Amino acid sequence: MLVLKDVTAHYGTSQALFGMSLDLQAGQVATLLGRNGMGKTTTINTIMGIVKASGGSITFDGQELVGRASFRTANLGLGLVPEGRQIFPNLTMLENLVATASNHLGVDDPWTVEKVLALFPELETRTGSMGNLLSGGEQQMLAIGRALMTNPRLLILDEATEGLAPIIRQEIWAAIARLKQETGTAILLIDKSVRELAQVSDRAVILGRGETVWSGAFADITPEVSETYVGV
Ligand code: ATP
Repeated sequence: MLVLKDVTAHYGTSQALFGMSLDLQAGQVATLLGRNGMGKTTTINTIMGIVKASGGSITFDGQELVGRASFRTANLGLGLVPEGRQIFPNLTMLENLVATASNHLGVDDPWTVEKVLALFPELETRTGSMGNLLSGGEQQMLAIGRALMTNPRLLILDEATEGLAPIIRQEIWAAIARLKQETGTAILLIDKSVRELAQVSDRAVILGRGETVWSGAFADITPEVSETYVGV
């Protein structure tokens, strides 16, 4: 579904990706791992066209994404939950959910506000609350719900549970597991907790200094691989 081959990217004259490769099949959950600054966020932002790839190829269902405007990439069915959540602070939760909702692919059974609230019942009593008054956990659930309201075939989460309390993190993992099982949405995610990621991840790609240094089944990450490349 999503294939990255030898992708390079720069910030000005500074190179951040040196030949990143990745292969994600439909319905799979894949995780990007690696120490801080290795290029995980840059990889995601390059897929979405927020950072321009300077070389290599990124295809989604055979369509080249390199050189495509971000909104056109999103319209192909890629939904992003960005680092820092980027909730609109001066819109209510409900307004945040519907502000960017779309069904560009014309899916038969699109996401609705009701379905998002069923996935995250914690949000039900907060629909009228302004974005900036929501807790970090509520904001993350909202950011996931907002991305789902664009009916993505591939959901991308940058720092799925960063900074959240353990109980909230567990709710996010449970929701991701439900999405995988019940909707078959492919998911690409970044998170730091290898142990928690094991609950949902089929595959892992490990980055070291802007390139893929290991990839395979998540279950095949040995303690040695984890210690060498991830640091835990
Ligand atoms: P972290 O886990 O800390 O978020 P990461 O693996 O997501 O790290 P990136 O944020 O993609 O790593 O950063 C990869 C490299 O690109 C780092 O060397 C970083 O300093 C550099 N970099 C990231 N964003 C920018 C930017 N806006 N301008 C210049 N350099 C950047």
